[in-house]
Amino acid sequence: NAEGFVPQRAAYIETAAITANVRALRRAATGSKLMAVLKADGYGHGIVPAALAALEGGADYLGTAVLEEAFAVRAAGITAPLFSWLCAPGAPYARAISEDIELAAYSLGQLRDIADAGALAGMVPRIHLKIDTGMWRGGAAPSDWPQLCAAARELEIDGRIRVLGVWSHLACADEPGNVSVPAQLEVFRVAIATARALGLEPQLCHIANSAATLASPEAHFDMVRPGLAVYGVNPLAEEDRGSCPALRPAMTLGAAVVQTKRAPAGAGVSYGHTETTARETTLAVVPLGYADGVFRGASSAGPVRIGSQDYRVLGRVCMDQFVIDVGDDAVAAGDAALLFGPGDSGEPHVEAWARAAGTIPYEVLTRIGSRVPRIYL
Ligand code: PLP
Repeated sequence: NAEGFVPQRAAYIETAAITANVRALRRAATGSKLMAVLKADGYGHGIVPAALAALEGGADYLGTAVLEEAFAVRAAGITAPLFSWLCAPGAPYARAISEDIELAAYSLGQLRDIADAGALAGMVPRIHLKIDTGMWRGGAAPSDWPQLCAAARELEIDGRIRVLGVWSHLACADEPGNVSVPAQLEVFRVAIATARALGLEPQLCHIANSAATLASPEAHFDMVRPGLAVYGVNPLAEEDRGSCPALRPAMTLGAAVVQTKRAPAGAGVSYGHTETTARETTLAVVPLGYADGVFRGASSAGPVRIGSQDYRVLGRVCMDQFVIDVGDDAVAAGDAALLFGPGDSGEPHVEAWARAAGTIPYEVLTRIGSRVPRIYL
């Protein structure tokens, strides 16, 4: 391939793209800190390389959903500020606190558990209180918020916790003009004011995901918390991107064709013979399947680039492979088939694969199987 793609089954990760994307996002949110979201193995890119690349681009904070992810970051020797937000009762809080991981809290019981774990660890846990501003997922309901803040303040006065942040999450930030965004921001502002009135001094108020980082400056507050955009994918619809900075997709997914074969007209292809060849043609087998994260829902649809030609999946995606119809083109075993990437060789973007599979780029990236080697460029 002209771009130097090594024809193996692999997800090629350009860490410099992650670094550049973080730089661009920091410029888009000047005056705010940036937490690079690393959950789900860095959106499939590898949590440790993604963390290092984001820090190189100026990320102030790293964020993970579950503690296992945060522990993986620390195990790699990364000492940057790190926030982890999804813990159930019984979570290993003491270990998290001793590893300097900042924790989310949204209930009184959880505040007490974290304070007790801090005592055990001999450290003062640092907490970001979460308010549910209207997504109706995690976080304290606004009606419980004053009580949560008051309890947090008491624990703080006793020297048992320190409240560093107040945070929330937006449900519809990728739909500019959706009235829930200003409504959530208003609940957030009131929650911050309540926290302050009750004596807390949160220095880090944060609510903006990638879409809000890119499209809603009024949502930036003290820190933005982008995930998808760090990896070079803009969650906004193309027509809503306006003056968004250019982002570079960091991942290229591809594989070498394993076999080509002539087939007559009328040949039923792949499981179920859901499609048949329209004429005599060449079929090519690509060794990536649903066990690798190539959605079966992209059967008969997923786009593939080989050389300068665009093809699509013919028939059903199998567990380890799928077939494409390359007509009379001179495709041979060993040729690089690109499913998606930054587009340098004319390959599709991950958005095209997501559309073909009836899903979103988030799911395509995070489902790339562990069997697919990540190769870092
Ligand atoms: N913050 C939280 C709490 C999240 O759950 C996520 C991911 O969904 C993000 C930030 C990053 O979102 P995005 O990838 O849309 O930027």
